Amino acid sequence: MLIDDYRLEVFEPPCIPGSPTWSAKAHLTKDISCVIPYLNATIKKGFYDPSTKTLVWRNGNRRVAVKPLEVGATNLADREEAEKVIKEIIELVNSTWERRNEITPSEEARKPPTAMEIYKFLPKTNCKECGASSCFVFATQLAGGEVELENCKPLFTGDFAENRKKLLELLGME
Ligand code: SF4
Repeated sequence: MLIDDYRLEVFEPPCIPGSPTWSAKAHLTKDISCVIPYLNATIKKGFYDPSTKTLVWRNGNRRVAVKPLEVGATNLADREEAEKVIKEIIELVNSTWERRNEITPSEEARKPPTAMEIYKFLPKTNCKECGASSCFVFATQLAGGEVELENCKPLFTGDFAENRKKLLELLGME
C-alpha cells in the first residue's frame, strides 16, 4: 500500500472566514510523487503541473488536489465528511498504484484557467455577494483554488446560464 499513514487537518478556507464549508488536507508521511503521473493518465479533466507534481481536479463542486506529500479537498460540510472524502481519495491513490502495470503514466501538463480567463465569464457587476471586493478579486481567488464558483450567487441565476456553462467547462466541473 502506497499511503498507509497520514495526519488529517480540517480548516476554514483562508479567504472566507466564517465559511459554512471546510477544507481538509492529509499530511503524508511518505512521498507519493511516483503515483501522480499514473493518476494524471487516468483523470482526464485534471490540471497537472509536472514541475511540482501537482494534480488538481474537480469532483462535482469539490476541488481535489494530490501533491507529493499532501492530499486535499474543499467544500466539506464537517469533519465527518472530511474524513470520508480524504479516505476515498487515498483509496483512489492506492488502487491506482496497485494497477500501475495496466496504466501508461503521463507527464502531460494541463494548465488551470488564469484569473483573466475566469473573469471574462463572471457577471462583472462587482456586487460583493461572494465576499470579494470585486469580480476580478474573486476570479483571482478562484484561480488560486481559495474559493468555490458557487460563492458567486448571481452566476447561478437564469441571467447568466451561458456564462455559468462556460465557467463550469473551463474549470473541469462538467
Ligand atoms: S458575487 Fe459574482 S458578480 Fe458579485 S462580485 Fe462576486 S464574482 Fe462578481
